[in-house]
Amino acid sequence: APPRVVVIGGGFGGASVARTLKREDPGIAVALIEPNAHYTACPLSNSVIAGLRDMNAQHFGYAGIEADGIIHVPQKAVRVEADQRRVVLADEVRLGYDRLVVAPGIDMRFDAIPGYDAAAAELMPHAWKAGEQTLLLRRQLEVMPDGGLVVISAPPNPFRCPPGPYERASLVASYLKTHKPRSKILILDAKDAFSKQRLFQAGWATLYPGMIEWVGLSFGGRVTEVDAATWTLRTEFGEHRAAVANVIPPQRAGAIASIAGVADQTGWCPIDPVTFESRLVPGVHVIGDAAIGGAMPKSAFTANAQAKACASAVIALLRGRMPAEPKLINTCYSLLAPDYGISIAGVYSPQNGLLAEVEGAGGTSPLDAPQAVRAEEAAYGEAWFGTITTEAFG
Ligand code: FAD
Repeated sequence: APPRVVVIGGGFGGASVARTLKREDPGIAVALIEPNAHYTACPLSNSVIAGLRDMNAQHFGYAGIEADGIIHVPQKAVRVEADQRRVVLADEVRLGYDRLVVAPGIDMRFDAIPGYDAAAAELMPHAWKAGEQTLLLRRQLEVMPDGGLVVISAPPNPFRCPPGPYERASLVASYLKTHKPRSKILILDAKDAFSKQRLFQAGWATLYPGMIEWVGLSFGGRVTEVDAATWTLRTEFGEHRAAVANVIPPQRAGAIASIAGVADQTGWCPIDPVTFESRLVPGVHVIGDAAIGGAMPKSAFTANAQAKACASAVIALLRGRMPAEPKLINTCYSLLAPDYGISIAGVYSPQNGLLAEVEGAGGTSPLDAPQAVRAEEAAYGEAWFGTITTEAFG
């Protein structure tokens, strides 16, 4: 019988690992478990929130993956019986595997901020999983009055897409600047520094002077409680009444990771940085946002890079070869305005049991660059989205 690999989760990580496995070793039987009929991509979803992009441009189906000979199982995985090497589906059907790859992305921690639970998220959207939440935040911005306060609550590390909250603040500002110019944006942050901070803050001073205020942890930025019914966010030092409140709460690996026993007490999944095999459950690999990626940020670029490295390692293990040490790359583009992009890049390799950054190999956009460079980077970001979604779903 051919070796069987089952993948849980058809996002950037899961779709990419399934396809790489099948392409590099067509003799392996690959099944991809994903309950949604189509995937909704988060990258560029901040442009949807700002009214710059149609939501349909974020949707990707699974026909391309099926055409590769991968079996798409349109269900939710509810349990893993790792000692018998089986995944249990919602309808109690069991799928046997030789190797399992778990790529469920994130779940919000609805127990982390008092008052912020799943019901509160219907009033104060996180919009940190693209879909209905993205559209809800868009509608709220459309109906808010000119002169209103938009509060964005940014989470502590680690979380999905480190530059994401700040890209969102920028693009919301680009919408408000034209449509509701008396409005303000307040970012309440649970940390004292953030990704590409100097580039973002320099860009805000040029593009949106006086519109965006950022309050870090040391200055009382952490949101300690919310009251969704009155649009109130509390911090250690005061409270803020918002016209629109975008609460991005602390996160953890998608629930199936804990159920399967691959998440530790942090809520994330420790892995071997060469094979991405779980440190807790043998035969199970974890990639993407759910994994403890060391220095690698949680991004779609990372999930795709880890998927390729994991696929090579899984093939090697199934075929009795020694897995090779991977070198992984990540680049994250952010938009500050439709024609103003910035980026950060890094190279990572296994060191002392973790994925560590290769010194001197990465970097960010220059702090003082002409507008033409920012416009070029905005275009690169758009091109990157086309490339990665074609690789994963096209
Ligand atoms: P996901 O893409 O979330 O996929 C997980 C999949 O698993 C989902 O389809 C889910 O339905 C499925 N699943 C979960 N549980 C189960 C189960 N029990 N059974 C079956 N299936 C299950 N990254 C970038 O690189 N560049 C960007 O510009 C960028 N911008 C972003 C902007 C925003 C606003 C946000 C929120 C994120 C952004 N990201 C960006 C981050 C990127 O979206 C994530 O890092 C990426 O989606 C992680 O991929 P993943 O495969 O780990 O998880």
